[in-house]
Amino acid sequence: MTGYAATAPAAPRGSCRDVPILKERGQREVFCGLTGIIWLHRKMQDAFFLVVGSRTCAHLLQSAAGVMIFAEPRFGTAILEEQDLAGMADAQDELDREVERLLSRRPDIRQLFLVGSCPSEVIKLDLARAAERLSAVYAPEVQVVNFTGSGIETTFTQGEDSCLAALARDLPETDEENLIVVGALPDVVEDQMRGLLHGLGIENVQVLPAARAGDHPTVGPRSRFILTQPFLGETLAALLQRGAKHLSAPFPIGEAGTTARLQVIADEYGVEAARFATITDAPRARARKAVAAAARDLSGRTIFFFPDSQLEIPLARFLTNECGMIPLEIGQPYITKDIIGPDLDLIPTGENGVPTISEGQDVDLQLDRARAARPDITVCGLGLANPLEAEGLTTKWAIELVITPVHFYEQAGDLAALFARPLRRRALIKTMHPNARLEAAE
Ligand code: SF4
Repeated sequence: MTGYAATAPAAPRGSCRDVPILKERGQREVFCGLTGIIWLHRKMQDAFFLVVGSRTCAHLLQSAAGVMIFAEPRFGTAILEEQDLAGMADAQDELDREVERLLSRRPDIRQLFLVGSCPSEVIKLDLARAAERLSAVYAPEVQVVNFTGSGIETTFTQGEDSCLAALARDLPETDEENLIVVGALPDVVEDQMRGLLHGLGIENVQVLPAARAGDHPTVGPRSRFILTQPFLGETLAALLQRGAKHLSAPFPIGEAGTTARLQVIADEYGVEAARFATITDAPRARARKAVAAAARDLSGRTIFFFPDSQLEIPLARFLTNECGMIPLEIGQPYITKDIIGPDLDLIPTGENGVPTISEGQDVDLQLDRARAARPDITVCGLGLANPLEAEGLTTKWAIELVITPVHFYEQAGDLAALFARPLRRRALIKTMHPNARLEAAE
């Protein structure tokens, strides 16, 4: 393997891979893993997500995915009532009845996910056993799988990890060569990615999750896989356990990240340099041009990431190297160097010990650091954005970066624009209403 350095920026001499990580274990402000159902149910079109939880879980899903109320929904909540929580009813029997009711009403369902929550965890309801039992009853028409989205165990993007890891453990075995692309990408991005890989001559590309139950990948010792999201650590472990080989590379975010990622794949498959250039030169040029237009507003501006989506490190790498921004702190809920190391390699260390790389959160301490640093943009969750806006800081909602298409070449310009927009908006409001206080975040 010749490595990606031929086409991507070389690792700077002082890179963030080796800087000491500030580890914090205090109060955190992040959604729970149930949030992932919002984008997973759109991707898996014959799946139903049955959350075994409380009214709070039902409210979270209904308000977060409110746009779905006009469609036949593919998620729901089996509410645990007080008598379940007190252990006075057999919750397993009730679950069987709910599933029976659901599946007889919805013959289109091929995958049923029993999703654990804080309440089901607190009463130690064994959903793995329930999934096994119900799978035996409804096989082969319906596959029943269990994963957890509980706020005790997961941050919001870890719900997807937990779901894909459960699927990965059950994928059919194969002896054939294949490339598995792991992570729920929007369909338009998945099509672009398939086009690039096809152009490089890489066949038998399969995606996890697939749109339909029967199309999930097969896996075995000749499988290779790439992660498209940095929050898929449990899925990585499950696929390694199945004998597949992980192709580690920077994430396909921005022009350089996408090129670096494709180069690692091309090297693994022995793709000629000329063919690589033929396939990537034009989209690279388009991406650079689109990024440059948005980067005019970003260059020289400072940015501070609160830990939220797990995308923070690849985003910081993109904004630093391709948009000229200055990261002050890059917080991420968990840092797994096997996954995120190649991106850390490409973030240069600056002056005065910046950026700080932090893992986990102690929200009050981190708020103090953000207030002292006064960054031009603060990337954070919804709960922190409005108060910070009211204090005069410009914010970007982290969740938007997960539900908006941001991967690969054609999205690079839009991604940069997502960060430029709140700056322009604040500047505009300041011009029009010099004394106005901003109450709502972008
Ligand atoms: Fe709240 Fe836990 Fe339900 Fe998430 S799983 S909505 S954190 S009770």
